[in-house]
Amino acid sequence: MTASLADDDVLARLRGIVGARNVLTEEADMAPYLEDWRGYSRGTALAVVLPGDTSEVAGVVKAAAECGRSLVPQGGNTSLCQGSVPPEGGNGIVLALRRMAGIREIDKPSGVMIVDAGAALAAVHAAAEGVGRRVPINLGSEGTAQIGGLLSTNAGGTSALRYGPMRELVCGIEVVLPNGRVFSDLRALRKDNTGYDLRNLFVGAEGTLGVVTGAAIRMHPMLRASAHAWVALADLDAAVTILTGLQDRFDTAVQAAELLSRNQVELVLRHIPRTRHPLETRSDWSLLVELGSSDAAADLQGQLEEWLAERFEDGAVLDAFVAQSEAQGGDIWHIRHSVSEANKIHGHSLSHDVAVRPSLVPRMIEACSEGVRAAHPGANILIVSHVGDGNVHFIVHFTHAEWDAFADPKAVTAQVMRIVHDEVEALNGTFSAEHGIGRKLKGELAQRGDPVRLELMRAIRGVIDPGQRMNPGTVL
Ligand SMILES: Cc1cc2nc3c(=O)[nH]c(=O)nc-3n(C[C@H](O)[C@H](O)[C@H](O)COP(=O)(O)OP(=O)(O)OC[C@H]3O[C@@H](n4cnc5c(N)ncnc54)[C@H](O)[C@@H]3O)c2cc1C
Repeated sequence: MTASLADDDVLARLRGIVGARNVLTEEADMAPYLEDWRGYSRGTALAVVLPGDTSEVAGVVKAAAECGRSLVPQGGNTSLCQGSVPPEGGNGIVLALRRMAGIREIDKPSGVMIVDAGAALAAVHAAAEGVGRRVPINLGSEGTAQIGGLLSTNAGGTSALRYGPMRELVCGIEVVLPNGRVFSDLRALRKDNTGYDLRNLFVGAEGTLGVVTGAAIRMHPMLRASAHAWVALADLDAAVTILTGLQDRFDTAVQAAELLSRNQVELVLRHIPRTRHPLETRSDWSLLVELGSSDAAADLQGQLEEWLAERFEDGAVLDAFVAQSEAQGGDIWHIRHSVSEANKIHGHSLSHDVAVRPSLVPRMIEACSEGVRAAHPGANILIVSHVGDGNVHFIVHFTHAEWDAFADPKAVTAQVMRIVHDEVEALNGTFSAEHGIGRKLKGELAQRGDPVRLELMRAIRGVIDPGQRMNPGTVL
C-alpha cells in the first residue's frame, strides 16, 4: 500500500527525530509489534517508532499531537488484555521503548534504583543482585516485560502477597505527557507531602495518560535463607486454611503461595520441557509455597517440614515435597511460571483475571465453575491462583479443535465472561485484578464500573489527554 502524502510527512518528521532506522514501516518489521502475546488481537499502524531517550520520546509525542496521530506506548508486548497493540484499521504510531533499557543509577543505602522504562524486568533483577539487593516482583514474562509496562499495568505476580503489586515498588516516575512535556519526579523520597499523589495516577494507566520513560524502583535485602514446597491439599478449602496457618506461623517470611488445579499442572507437564511432578500423589489441588528470610541462619526448610508434617496429621495436607536445594525450588516455580505458555500451546484460553477476598476464593471458584459447566458441560476449567491476594486466573480452556468447532466463538467468549464476572460481582469482587483493562475489558468497565469512579477517570483523562490520542480504544 502506498502511503498518502500526509503519511509521508508524518514519517519524515519521525525520521528526523529518531533517525530513519528507528522508524519501522515494512510489514515484516512491524508484525511483532502489532499482534498481542496470545495472538488474539492484531492491529495496524503507520509506523513503529523506537526512540533512544526521553527527549526523543517527547519529540515523537509532540509530533504525533501536531499531526493528529494516535500513539500506543509499548513495552515487552506481553499484555494479557490486548492493551499493547494498536486497533485494527488504525494509522497511528506504536512507540516501543525497547532501546531505552539503561540502568541510570543504583543507590544501595537508599534502597533505590533508577531505570529507563524499557529495561526488561530480568535485567533489573540482575542489576539489583549485582549490589546484593533484589526487586521483588516475579512473573512468567519477566524476561520480556519492561518496567514501563509493569508499572503501567500495576503488575502483580507471585511476590505481590509479600511486597504488594508494582505500585508499592515504585517510588518515582518520569512521564512524557500527551502534549510532549515531561513530568519528572525521580527524587525517590520516602516522605514528600507536597500535594496530590500524581505518580500513582500513571501507575496502572495503561498508556492512556502519557509515556513512562523512567522510574525509581525500591530494592529489598536479599533472601539468604529460603524454603520451597509443593503441597498436595486435601481439598480446595485447605488452600485458605493452610495459607492462614502459614501466615500465623511464619508471618512475613511467607513470600509466595500459589494454588494450581490438577488439570493445569498436567497441561504444563505435557507441554513444557524439563518439567516433572515433584510428588507421586496427584491431588486435585496443589499449593506452592515459598518462605524466605534475610537471616542466613534461619532454618526455614526444617521448620517448614515440621509444620507440614503437623498439617499431614490434622488432614489438611495429603502429601508434600520440600525442596532440598535451590535448584529443586526453581523446578517447582518453573512449573508455576510456565502455565500461560503451556495453555497457549494446548489451545484457546478464555482467561478471567478476577479477585475476591482471599477467604472467598473457594466459594468463587465453585460458583463460577458451576455456572460455566451449566452452559458448557465438558468445559476444561483450569485454575491458577495467587490465593493470598484473592486473585484467581479462572481459565475456561478449549483445545484448538474444540474452539474451531464453535459456530460463533465471540458469543461463547462473551457468554462465559458474563457468567464468571456475574458470580464475582455477587461476591463483591473485581473482574480485573492484575492484568488491567486493555481492549479486552473496556466494555466490562463501562458496564460494571462504579459510575462516580468512571466520571472521575474520564475527567482526569480529559485534562491530561483532551485529544484522546494516547492508546485509544483501551480502558475508557
Ligand atoms: C507468560 C506470562 C505471564 C504473565 N504473568 C503475569 C503475572 O503473574 N502477573 C501480572 O500482573 N501480569 C502477568 N502477565 C502480563 C504482563 O506480563 C504484564 O501485564 C506486564 O506488566 C506487561 O509488561 P510489558 O512491558 O510487556 O507491557 P506491554 O504488554 O507492552 O503493555 C502493557 C500496557 O502498558 C502500556 N505501556 C507499556 N509500556 C509503557 C510505557 N513505557 N509507558 C506507558 N504505557 C506503557 C501499554 O500501552 C499497555 O497498555 C503475564 C504475561 C505473560 C505473557
